[in-house]
Amino acid sequence: MKKTEIIGQAEQVFVHTYNRYPIVLDHGEGVYLYDTDGKRYLDFAAGIAVMALGYGVKEYNDALKSQIDRLIHTSNYYYSEPAMTAGRKLAAASKMDRVFFTNSGTEAIEGAIKAAKKYAYTRHGHADFEIIAMEHSFHGRSIGALSVTGNEHYREAFLPLMDGVRFARLNDFESVLQSVSEKTCAIILEPIQGEGGIYPACPEFLRQVRALCDERDLVLIFDEIQCGMGRTGTMFAWQQYGVRPDVLAMAKAIGGGVPVGAFAVTERIAKQSLAPGDHGTTYGGNPFVCAAVSTVLDLFERMDVLANVSRVGDYLSEKLDELCASDGRIQERRGIGLMQGLQFECPVGEIIQDCQNRGLILINAGANVIRFVPPLVITEQHVDEMIEILKESLRQKS
Ligand SMILES: *Cc1c(COP(=O)(O)O)cnc(C)c1O
Repeated sequence: MKKTEIIGQAEQVFVHTYNRYPIVLDHGEGVYLYDTDGKRYLDFAAGIAVMALGYGVKEYNDALKSQIDRLIHTSNYYYSEPAMTAGRKLAAASKMDRVFFTNSGTEAIEGAIKAAKKYAYTRHGHADFEIIAMEHSFHGRSIGALSVTGNEHYREAFLPLMDGVRFARLNDFESVLQSVSEKTCAIILEPIQGEGGIYPACPEFLRQVRALCDERDLVLIFDEIQCGMGRTGTMFAWQQYGVRPDVLAMAKAIGGGVPVGAFAVTERIAKQSLAPGDHGTTYGGNPFVCAAVSTVLDLFERMDVLANVSRVGDYLSEKLDELCASDGRIQERRGIGLMQGLQFECPVGEIIQDCQNRGLILINAGANVIRFVPPLVITEQHVDEMIEILKESLRQKS
């Protein structure tokens, strides 16, 4: 089928929730994507920080194929070895104690919110608690996740949302203190805000929030759906900061491309929170997706992905800093490891489109920020290739 036909028919059949780029992707290999015309793109978006290992990894594909032939789905009424194995590996990698698999990041957030509410209910014997979330955060599109998402643009049409959410500002501990009350049961934040524009939390801020949660018996929820799974150079970003949450939400890269998320809790929360009947999912953690999670975690070790992220992440930061210093339109670089953002003084949509025409896939994070979340297996050469294309594009536009 011709590209224009595919695009035309897609536009007729799908609910119009996306303004898609006018390309039709066909297959991927390594860190490159190919469209239906055979044009090649260097991928610095990774399907929004999902394809950590890149495309066409034989061992991963083989593991999925063999699980398909064995058993795809069971429901959570029964045990399966792939689910148990993936759960154990994910708990070990995240240094949390217990895991609940979901089908998406949004559902991981829903579960995290319910775990926090149930904890408070168990501790105090009544409900009606409040949650503190951060401005410019993003936690997903369901009503619960939207309720803790600090972006009016996403929320406005869907009010009223879940009751009892107050917004504070990341890296402004005073604003958190001002939001705390007798009713507060949890604080939720992204250690590095992703969609909001790549804003890392300050170590001191996270330590203060952790201390506050300890002091008042609040549940600290970290949303590491985007910044977790190796993206910053440690398995999870909290390990960089040395501030462990009580509940950790994960998704995106954990399945290497299959739809899977998870939330994990410490034993202390597990003992006093969700119990049989409180939460569930039909698909969540089925043998198929768990085979993917398991294989991804194995490959992270075998391919020494974390060391690669640290090394290439430093290189990327250095190159982006050089670019920032040489171009007056770029105000700032922010980020850690292979989660980086360039803050422009102007909207970046045209630059991203132009780079795409030149064979480079980038995405934004807010109107004025170009976001760099490539597969975690890229090398310095790929960074050089990306910088060259971006520079050319910026030269054209100046
Ligand atoms: C992507 C994302 C989500 C939502 O995950 P989905 O899989 O799209 O439901 C939540 N939080 C953060 C930080 C994200 O980046």
